[in-house]
Amino acid sequence: MNEKMLLPVTKNQEVEMEIIDLTHEGTGVGRVDGFTLFVPQAIPGEYVKAKVLKLKKNFGYAKLLEIIRESPERVQPPCPIYEKCGGCALQHMSYAQQLRQKTGMVEDNLRRIGKIDHAVIHPTLGMEEPWRYRNKAQVPIGEQEGGLIGGFYAQGSHQIIDMEACLIQHEKNDEVVQKVKKIAASVGISAYHEETGKGLLRHVVVKVGFKTGQLMVVLVINGDQLPRQDELVNQLTKSIDGLKSLVVNVNKKNTNVIFGEKTEVIWGEPYIYDYIGEIQFAISARSFYQVNPVQTEVLYGKALEYAGLTGSETVIDAYCGIGTISLFLAQKARKVYGVEIVPDAISDAKRNARLNGMENVEFAVGEAEKVIPWWYAQGIRADVVVVDPPRKGCDETLLETLIAMKPRRIVYVSCNPSTLARDLAILEGGGYVTREVQPVDMFPHTVHVESVAWLSLKE
Ligand code: SAH
Repeated sequence: MNEKMLLPVTKNQEVEMEIIDLTHEGTGVGRVDGFTLFVPQAIPGEYVKAKVLKLKKNFGYAKLLEIIRESPERVQPPCPIYEKCGGCALQHMSYAQQLRQKTGMVEDNLRRIGKIDHAVIHPTLGMEEPWRYRNKAQVPIGEQEGGLIGGFYAQGSHQIIDMEACLIQHEKNDEVVQKVKKIAASVGISAYHEETGKGLLRHVVVKVGFKTGQLMVVLVINGDQLPRQDELVNQLTKSIDGLKSLVVNVNKKNTNVIFGEKTEVIWGEPYIYDYIGEIQFAISARSFYQVNPVQTEVLYGKALEYAGLTGSETVIDAYCGIGTISLFLAQKARKVYGVEIVPDAISDAKRNARLNGMENVEFAVGEAEKVIPWWYAQGIRADVVVVDPPRKGCDETLLETLIAMKPRRIVYVSCNPSTLARDLAILEGGGYVTREVQPVDMFPHTVHVESVAWLSLKE
């Protein structure tokens, strides 16, 4: 028998249903006769009419046609390009509801995957002003009627759509991107074409220090140099207030990766500076730096609180990046060891330690799951370990080393609640108990959710 014949809905059918859940991509979930349908743009609690577009064996996708009963949490997305862009999947929901959804996602993952129901999960800490929070813009450049356009790729494609403003971007970044487009076009710079591999300017990257106002512009080009460079530099430096650094990065490869290998400062300094709390950071064209500096301070503040430092502790910061958390913790610890896999990030971390006159930190390049067992074998014992792994979570060898080392506390900073839940369960099996989890909204209007968890050794 054809299985499709058993499905309670058919393709192109119009159905009505209650939206009962939201996926981690921000899509509404409903059921028709027990069959799951995913409905983009629909909000839990709404009753909607939708058209079935695509069917799989156990679920299908439907397009929202009409909202029969609207959620009180529905708002008009303030961004005019919201639907085309797709970067802010939650803009049609009130900010308070976005935060509740994020808390729910963390709770759900911890319960379902980690079987953790004893930890206190706090409501997500949101921003007072959840707009204009990003300090970095990375804009692909294209051409239209002789001029340069730049903005974003239309959702699910590589067609560049021009954009004047992105409401989650610092105003300065928007302003600078507009200026660069105009000035670059006026000196005859062409835009790179993905299909032909011809043309010069690929991306404009702008970084701003929120606390210092310093600006860096990076032009990513498909070539070794800029034509009429002096004229370009002259005009850019004259028209951009606060510009401290102008950089060219060469990327001649046919790739989606933004940056190429070669980076050259063509005017000004190689770094701009910014602060998180009291700590100063040098930011280069290529260095990783948290994109929401306001919430980063909130996140690290929570990590510091959960670390419970008194000044006498030895701390390990695993997956330390450019040492942001390490330096934050070093203010209150005896000694901090940081480990990170990217060598350039460790050079930045060392530079940042010197910049702040901090001598109680030591950084190593390598895989956390190799370096930490080695430190352990050398007799290093941490009282507190902080981990901040990428989305895939911690390597199991690392977790086993922590279980053997028995730090008094573990602070787990996570950008993915499902791997967080999996790893917490492993640590709980090894004698730890998850005490509290604090989700922090680092990326308002997007589906991302960051959390900090505090674990302590069972008595
Ligand atoms: N704690 C930093 C960065 C966290 S992002 C901050 O808050 O800014 C995660 C980091 O883990 C990245 O810098 C990535 O390069 C690094 N990383 C990925 N796999 C790793 C591994 N196996 N060992 C050590 N570091 C790793």
